[in-house]
Amino acid sequence: MRKIFSLVKSWVLYILFPRVCFCCGADVARNDGNPLCPECMKDLKPVQGLICRRCGLPLPDGGALCYGCRIKKNFKCGFIRSGLKFTPASRALAHAFKYGGYTHLSRFFAPFMYNVFRQNPEFFEADFLVPVPIHKSRRRERGFNQSLLLALDLSRLCGVPCAELLVRKVKTRSQTSLGRKERLENIKEAFACANAAAVRSGAIILIDDVCTTSATLEECAGVLRKAGAREVLAITALRE
Ligand SMILES: [Zn+2]
Ligand SMILES: [Zn+2]
Repeated sequence: MRKIFSLVKSWVLYILFPRVCFCCGADVARNDGNPLCPECMKDLKPVQGLICRRCGLPLPDGGALCYGCRIKKNFKCGFIRSGLKFTPASRALAHAFKYGGYTHLSRFFAPFMYNVFRQNPEFFEADFLVPVPIHKSRRRERGFNQSLLLALDLSRLCGVPCAELLVRKVKTRSQTSLGRKERLENIKEAFACANAAAVRSGAIILIDDVCTTSATLEECAGVLRKAGAREVLAITALRE
């Protein structure tokens, strides 16, 4: 029976995952189940060791805080932790997930996010996982919100319920081509609280696919804090 189950599983994985590595295009063995070839799997680097205590940025030279967190005070988002470093392999996966429609990859990212959840007891107190929303017209185009998929899969692992407590009011430009200052301007007042009663005095973990400057997370956290959240933290799949 177990043999049949594992055979069925390998075929399901075979259908779900393409037979080539998402990063380099090399053949991937059928029974492997990984979306990357063994070489590219080695390029997946969990964020660990020396990081900024606040934003989770890897700090190769050590120190408690990165430069950005040292000069800015009064963050709305308490701290941010991420599953994987931004490497060619993790980037290729995130791209296939978000733009290629390979929605099942959220199940691949979620355990890396769960790892950082487990390492930080502050997360255990959370009432909700709240995905960073995308504008409804973008959701229609893409068919899904990548952050919601990640939040749902992480919720299954950590037991904290997922709730869509934010909406995106403004369809903002993609942040990827923008500098730090432009990102802040672009994202300003783009979000609103969808359920103030649920947010009030709650502890929330924001969920997003990639953290780059943390401008989006900070803006979302600001809206939630204004609505009465007592604490806002964040977990992302990748840290750029
Ligand atoms: Zn590869
Ligand atoms: Zn920092």
